[in-house]
Amino acid sequence: MDTMFDNYKIFLDKIDRFWAESAAALGEDLVCRKGCGSCCRHLNLFPVEAVHIRLAMEELEPEIVAMIRQRAENLYNDPDGECPLLYENTCLLYPVRPVICRTHGLPVLVRDPDGHRVDVCPLNFTSGRRPEKDHILDIEQLNTTLAAVNALFTASAFEPGDVPDRLLLAHALLMDLD
Ligand code: SF4
Repeated sequence: MDTMFDNYKIFLDKIDRFWAESAAALGEDLVCRKGCGSCCRHLNLFPVEAVHIRLAMEELEPEIVAMIRQRAENLYNDPDGECPLLYENTCLLYPVRPVICRTHGLPVLVRDPDGHRVDVCPLNFTSGRRPEKDHILDIEQLNTTLAAVNALFTASAFEPGDVPDRLLLAHALLMDLD
């Protein structure tokens, strides 16, 4: 099973490098830090992200798993609520957090019918600085690559039709892996 995540892990490393390089260049205009959970809303995941995070739960202490399961059950029908993995403003599975979580805080290029715009967290760039293009994340390109990585994963891990296209994080955390 582990080699099925090779492409995904390469992709995650690339995103993490982009974040680290951007954070170094943006300096104090990026105030993201441990303890800020402002971006941590309930997410929809691709199956590759969902299975990766679900498998990582197997490595946790039983009492942490029980707490995560309880939080996932509470938020099972709450797609607009907070993330079930956010506990005391800390991510309970931070090392295996999904793709979008690894981009939190970065300036994001958004394409909409009226043209392109750059979105930033209101807590960042309070100096008025405009982020340089090398540190702006193209979210559409990111999602296209993630979809391709996911397609390879699902083709090797599931029979056609056996897994939904996307699933809520709470549903992923409660997923039966048998
Ligand atoms: S998985 Fe972790 S980093 Fe991502 S939204 Fe949830 S708590 Fe935040």
